[in-house]
Amino acid sequence: MTLPARVHVVGGGLAGLSAAVTLADRGIPVTLSEAAKQAGGRCRSFYDGLLDMVIDNGNHLVLSGNAAVTRYMRKIGAADRLTGPGRPEFHFLDRQRDRRWVFRPDEGRFPWWILDAGRRVPGTALRDYLRLLALMRRHPGRRIDEVIRCDGPLWETFLRPLFISALNTRPEEASADLASAIVRETLAKGGRYMHPLVATPTLAAAFVDPALDRLNRTGADIRLGRSLRAVRFEGNRAAALTFDEGEELLGPEDHVIFAVPPWTAGKLLPGLKVPDAFHAIVNAHFRIAPPAGAPPMVGMTGGTAEWVFALADRMSVTVSAADHLLERDADDLARILWRDVSAAYGLTAPLPACRIVKEKRATFASTPAQAARRPGARTAWSNLFLAGDWVDTGLPATIEGALRSGEVAASLV
Ligand SMILES: Cc1cc2nc3c(=O)[nH]c(=O)nc-3n(C[C@H](O)[C@H](O)[C@H](O)COP(=O)(O)OP(=O)(O)OC[C@H]3O[C@@H](n4cnc5c(N)ncnc54)[C@H](O)[C@@H]3O)c2cc1C
Repeated sequence: MTLPARVHVVGGGLAGLSAAVTLADRGIPVTLSEAAKQAGGRCRSFYDGLLDMVIDNGNHLVLSGNAAVTRYMRKIGAADRLTGPGRPEFHFLDRQRDRRWVFRPDEGRFPWWILDAGRRVPGTALRDYLRLLALMRRHPGRRIDEVIRCDGPLWETFLRPLFISALNTRPEEASADLASAIVRETLAKGGRYMHPLVATPTLAAAFVDPALDRLNRTGADIRLGRSLRAVRFEGNRAAALTFDEGEELLGPEDHVIFAVPPWTAGKLLPGLKVPDAFHAIVNAHFRIAPPAGAPPMVGMTGGTAEWVFALADRMSVTVSAADHLLERDADDLARILWRDVSAAYGLTAPLPACRIVKEKRATFASTPAQAARRPGARTAWSNLFLAGDWVDTGLPATIEGALRSGEVAASLV
């Protein structure tokens, strides 16, 4: 086997970091080029002057069953930076009915909780859960509403909030195939796979900085603020990469992993079909410490907020598929979302300082049409591979998908 002389990983989001770390750990020389001044891409942290603290662009939830996340965190030596309650436990508030409930599935595979009326989702009966069986199978090209009924208490109180946050798309129009991937990898496997985990204290501290440290220790060449402008092809190979400072020739054994967003890949790689519709995620970060003993997060229905996170020094709200909020004034949003936070955690404090972060193209739209536009990791060029949450991983656009795509691209190299 001939090892590549050097692998150019372009894009320092989690997919690029995952590919780079996997290759560097195998002793393969890596150059990581990231256009921004910092790595992390859509999963990043920054100092916010208004709140006078480091915050994340958005809350990111992962689960104990996310296998690629577990492997990555071990590789970069940061497994202890994902924290959670240590059990499968999700607190919910139905704002319209002012009703609280807790989803606590069994650790094991058999869902005893469904047999126990007291542990089921409020207002549901045993037969309601049969529709989950349909979502254990794959359904390429079909919408969720073509596969299961999208109404009733199980849908409104549990499945809809679950799918909207995992798919970042209105579930009624979302891909049944991607929804079924979530069901197969979480609910169907049991609570052991569903312990919620959150980056502590920040996304950068958990996912990004330890990866850069690891790469530095292995001698990788990390170039931040270096944007790829063009690729020159010769026959079926990428022959040169043009960065701001000029063209860099690729040797015969050099390889390239494109871990850039789909719009960049689509522009730089002729003929590549990529997802081209996206949805926003809006986050609100409030400078207030959560009350002692507060649950780490509360899922909400019937309000504007969908998930409220209680972090050590701040409280933070996520709204998925939030395109309808993009034009809303930040002060307005802060007021509305603070009412939801106050309800979720029983707070009476006045509105604290708040930073609204609107990520317009947070993920590709998880519709069947967009899923069909996801390319595989191989390209028409023998030394160029793709990574990113938008590549056809079979998963929605998530950290797990991004990290897995990086591993796959690295293994193809
Ligand atoms: C607000 C928000 C909340 C989210 N919540 C969750 C969650 O709770 N759970 C979850 O699992 N996932 C969540 N996600 C999704 C998750 O963040 C993404 O799936 C993941 O970060 C994507 O990583 P990536 O490497 O594929 O892409 P990106 O992070 O987009 O990385 C691509 C990188 O390429 C760089 N780049 C672009 N052009 C060039 C160029 N020409 N040259 C060099 N570099 C270039 C970009 O700067 C970027 O750093 C959320 C996303 C957002 C935005």
